[in-house]
Amino acid sequence: MNFPIERFLQLKTPFYYYDMDLLKATLVRLRDSLPDERFIVHYAIKACSTEPVVKQIASFGIGADCVSGGEVEASINAGISPDKIVFAGVAKADWEILVGLRNNIFCFNVESEEELVNINTLAQQEGVTARVCLRINPDIDPHTHKNISTGLAEDKFGIQIEDLESTLHMFDNLGNLHFLGLHFHIGSQLLDMEPYRQLAQKVNEVVCQTEKLGYAVKVINVGGGLGINYHEPDKEPIADFKTYFGIFKDIIRLRDNQTLHFELGRAIVAQCGSLITRVLYNKHSHTREYVMADAGMNDLIRPALYEAYHSIDNLSNDEPKTHRYDVVGPVCESSDVFQRDYLMPLTRRGDLLAIRSAGAYGETMASRYNLRPLPLHYTSEELKKHQR
Ligand SMILES: *Cc1c(COP(=O)(O)O)cnc(C)c1O
Repeated sequence: MNFPIERFLQLKTPFYYYDMDLLKATLVRLRDSLPDERFIVHYAIKACSTEPVVKQIASFGIGADCVSGGEVEASINAGISPDKIVFAGVAKADWEILVGLRNNIFCFNVESEEELVNINTLAQQEGVTARVCLRINPDIDPHTHKNISTGLAEDKFGIQIEDLESTLHMFDNLGNLHFLGLHFHIGSQLLDMEPYRQLAQKVNEVVCQTEKLGYAVKVINVGGGLGINYHEPDKEPIADFKTYFGIFKDIIRLRDNQTLHFELGRAIVAQCGSLITRVLYNKHSHTREYVMADAGMNDLIRPALYEAYHSIDNLSNDEPKTHRYDVVGPVCESSDVFQRDYLMPLTRRGDLLAIRSAGAYGETMASRYNLRPLPLHYTSEELKKHQR
């Protein structure tokens, strides 16, 4: 990735930087990897809700996967058509369901029987019909970090397969609901494709079971979770969408009157974003050398929360990597560490660092912990414009 370092030098740090050329290239590849028009992508907006990023994604005709009323509103405001919005989440509040109903979104992904009853009641009050997919917990181990696994029987998400039949029968008596189909999502940052093969096989079984009970499955939604290469972002800047979609195309017995939906977040936006930070100080102890940056875990919490790896470039020094540093932030927590014992060129006060692959679950998870200001953001296009 090419960073406009001269422009960065004039800016207050830390900030998120989004490379819109890479985002566009990723979206082109995504579009070109879709096997046919029955394959439909919804962008999981919780990964990055920064407006120019979402607008760019919306311009490719991609829908949104939302997990809160605020995300439904943000998606619509960024130009995503409500008839392309799906709304998941284990605990949707009444006001959030109303946001969905009043905007006539494509579908609610429902995770419990009580939620079904509540959506029906609210839809009745509004005089509308809510389209619903049932989120099924397929009990598949995604082999990812335990904090981002969602499809194991012990995870809080979805309806257990043994409860499917009784849940389906509820639609017989809930007149303001329309059963559309089935939803699954097994976890995030999956690089091993085997769990997806298992999911696709499980989907065939559950679709078959559902239709045998007399409920037509029009929509099959297999969620998201496709992983990216955090270790070598420049070697693999765009995820292998083709292989991913190919697995579902090969295994799922999709009919012409069915659509297959995907909810991708990380794989669309992670690589186009970096967190740009300045080095404030160096410090040496007898065992370690520290680089203290002005970005902290409040700006990017993934290393502290998920033990996530983010590669770090020193943008101010392109000499060979000869030093090993612990790169830490200013927040008063021992877990405020971006990398330990990390090989870098000589790094000094004032150097600019790029913490890479931070476009997903970076800015959206930022907080004001320690009363630090929220990080700013710039897109490559904004910085080009201001330069002229
Ligand atoms: C977070 C989430 C996704 C997206 O996950 P990624 O790993 O970013 O692709 C998709 N579906 C649901 C229901 C989610 O909660």
